[in-house]
Amino acid sequence: MTAASDNLTLRLLREVLSCPSVTPEDKGCQNLISGFLIDAGFESETICRGKTDNLYCWYGSAGPLFLFAGHTDVVPPGCGWNTDPFAPTEVDGNLVARGAQDMKTSDVCFAAAAKQFVKNFPNFKGRIALLLTSDEEGDGKDGTAFAIEELKKKGIQPDFCIVGEPTCSKELGDTIKNGRRGSCNCRVTIYGEQGHVAYPLKVENPIHTASKIISKLAQTQWDQGCEGFPSTSFQVSNITAGTGAVNIVPGSCSFVFNLRYNPATSGQEIENKANGIIKEFAENSDISWEHSAFPFKTEGKELTGCLEKAISKVQDIKPALSTTGGTSDARFISRWCSEVVEFGPVNNLIHKANESIPLKDIPKLTEIYYQTLVNLFSVSSK
Ligand SMILES: [Zn+2]
Repeated sequence: MTAASDNLTLRLLREVLSCPSVTPEDKGCQNLISGFLIDAGFESETICRGKTDNLYCWYGSAGPLFLFAGHTDVVPPGCGWNTDPFAPTEVDGNLVARGAQDMKTSDVCFAAAAKQFVKNFPNFKGRIALLLTSDEEGDGKDGTAFAIEELKKKGIQPDFCIVGEPTCSKELGDTIKNGRRGSCNCRVTIYGEQGHVAYPLKVENPIHTASKIISKLAQTQWDQGCEGFPSTSFQVSNITAGTGAVNIVPGSCSFVFNLRYNPATSGQEIENKANGIIKEFAENSDISWEHSAFPFKTEGKELTGCLEKAISKVQDIKPALSTTGGTSDARFISRWCSEVVEFGPVNNLIHKANESIPLKDIPKLTEIYYQTLVNLFSVSSK
């Protein structure tokens, strides 16, 4: 990468960070990135639904397909900012703006790497594509999941994918995510018999029943974990009951719990086991489940090896492989592409006020993505 191309990357990043693209709005980010790539011979297509914009940009017509997946939407700024969150500002060697870590910097760095790569190796044997969505931080219905279905109809299927979410913990290059846990939520309402607290024989207290259920669910050992993953975790996130009065046993009690699970367990097994525990204590109850992510672990090693080699070259460290953290669009992509990993900048300020990216990491991240393409397509480095 040259100083001139680094300047162009920074200019594009500043423009993209200036777009107030609070989910599910894109506010022109994808247009800026596609314009930058079309200049270098990429083709592009928009796949929109509802308020969501999805962009698919590609170069090359045959051979293995490498996909970069990212999102241009950001979470709302919230309060506590010292600068305008949508006016990127340099402070002490960092570029401060909403989306600086999660994840406009990766989007732009990858676009810059891909542009440089096709300029240096216009006849490489393979294809490079970017899939950007503006609906990752929201419910995701019209985002990557929908775009994948549309791309599948055209026979498009990537062989390798990097999702550019911020994965590093202390230093750029220290962590690659090669899997994620599954996640499901369950909403339960227990019905009892409302009445006066002074007449225990005339009431059936649903809070007492709920507490027995929660206690048993919390003590349950769901599984033993599996290679690279901890055992399944259970947490209650909400509990609601009572009228506010001190002398009424309420008629119902509702609670919500979440389970994060590993690939050794299925969502259905978890659901069956939990339903059994709830029904054991409460015949009269409503239970509803939502499965927001299925777990995955990338078994392929080809892309991971190319990325590790690129990181060692640029940063001189060996990245750790990790499956921790929340969900990302990799949950959809892993069912479409056999080797998907996540790699992006340090994530210590995501969703916080004064989110920022070290300026020095911008050319380094670009170079890591570039060297990954060099390794993957086996061209000799320029
Ligand atoms: Zn993100």
